[in-house]
Amino acid sequence: MAFEKLKETLEKNGFAVSVFADGRAAAAYLNREIDGVTVGCGGSMTLTELGLQESLAAHNTLYAHGITPGAPEEVMAKAAAAEVYLLSANAIAEDTGEILNIDGTGNRISSLLFGHRKVYLVAGKNKVSPDYDSALWRLRNVVAPRNARRLGRNTPCAAKADRCYNCSSPDRICKGLVVLYQKMRSMDMEVVLIDQELGY
Ligand code: SF4
Repeated sequence: MAFEKLKETLEKNGFAVSVFADGRAAAAYLNREIDGVTVGCGGSMTLTELGLQESLAAHNTLYAHGITPGAPEEVMAKAAAAEVYLLSANAIAEDTGEILNIDGTGNRISSLLFGHRKVYLVAGKNKVSPDYDSALWRLRNVVAPRNARRLGRNTPCAAKADRCYNCSSPDRICKGLVVLYQKMRSMDMEVVLIDQELGY
């Protein structure tokens, strides 16, 4: 089974874990699990590639900035108060199960810590790194530059999307890092692992 060892490690860290061969099966599962509730979504190419914002909005009340009409700050505030929250994991350290997420606005990483009934972290196989150091390297040199380019940020990494230049640009996309050693105490948390490359 794909992710067999990682699943075991994440479960020891207190997370529920589900594993899927492809994104279609994962999206179908999430649409069965999440029904008739308020749902917040963090910005995520993984969720977008799975079409989850659209499919979940058909039978839930969904708040996703850039998709839900309204000022982004207002949509993010409603997402922060939603019963269920979805985001992707930026990187997972395979040896320890540490889950790393980096953020500029802070809406995604704050929702990782508190305030929801349940949080789902969705991750394709490209998000799994051998250890913490390589996971952090991936955040700084792959995830942030590609997102900076996608969002049209005025940062040195956006021009080439090749590596981090440790900039002090006002547009800097990576202002905070959250590392989950274990599941947070007050919320259910589930990691959805997909044996397919998704997002950055
Ligand atoms: S610190 Fe600056 S250059 Fe480095 S990834 Fe973040 S935004 Fe890009």
